[in-house]
Amino acid sequence: MNLFVKTGLRAALGVLVLLGLAQATGRVAADEAPEKETITIEKELPSGGKVTINKVGQEAAYAVVEIGGEKTEIDAFEPLSRVPEEARGVVEEAWNQLGEIPKKTINVEIDVTDAPDALEWAERAKSRVLYWYPKVVALLDGDAAVDKIPEDFTIKLIFKDMDGVAYAAGNEITVSSRYIKRNPKDFGLVVHETTHVAQRYPRCRETWAMEGETDYIRYYITEARTKNHWRIDPEKSKYTDSYGITASFYDWIIRNYDSGFLTKLHRVFRVQGSVERFFVEEYDATCQELWDEFIASLTNQTRQD
Ligand SMILES: [Zn+2]
Repeated sequence: MNLFVKTGLRAALGVLVLLGLAQATGRVAADEAPEKETITIEKELPSGGKVTINKVGQEAAYAVVEIGGEKTEIDAFEPLSRVPEEARGVVEEAWNQLGEIPKKTINVEIDVTDAPDALEWAERAKSRVLYWYPKVVALLDGDAAVDKIPEDFTIKLIFKDMDGVAYAAGNEITVSSRYIKRNPKDFGLVVHETTHVAQRYPRCRETWAMEGETDYIRYYITEARTKNHWRIDPEKSKYTDSYGITASFYDWIIRNYDSGFLTKLHRVFRVQGSVERFFVEEYDATCQELWDEFIASLTNQTRQD
């Protein structure tokens, strides 16, 4: 499907919408399953430079600016000051058009006292928290909850010279400066921890299910990964493997059974309910039975390919 939008700008603007093929399996009609779509906007700059804006899925967006052979890539959650000045207005207009500018502003404080070298990375991490926190709240608790975030709401990002990766406690996210030195591109960890701040779950017994939800938001929403992204071993993998494996299982449920799965699961954690029981009550199937069906669907796909 091609859709061309006219604007008053001198720049030519084309919007191309590519819709993924709906998967027709499962009990829910294919048209009810959320589909990832890609929107590409191309604009030419008066100097001959080029701006390409890609929006993948409902949430992720990035722009590629090419001027005189120089290429700059910027995510929608990064400050516009990273875009070459000539292209700034064009990129900002595209973000507005795509609805990518977050409507709620929160505060993010950075503490690099223990790891001054982490400052530059911390600034980029901060822009992710600013962008994603209100979006994750909207996803879990609905748009009305975003309006209820207090004006002085603050998330603190602390960088420490420590082992491990990162953890969240209350409104504080602590990140290992050693880890980011070895993995400078892993901004996804910031989204993962930001999601924990938004989840605010009381004591959680089924941590595998909670970390699956957190990584579903990280990989399948904020990074707009495609279905069955995770490497799953049909013989060895289990739904309780947590993180990306469980996230992949959730993605399949959302696509094939229930597009409202995420908010329902979120409610279970908020009231300290049992995820295993929730599956039986809501889907008339145990976690294991649905997992087996998921694994069978992967095996069928491999055969068809
Ligand atoms: Zn976690």
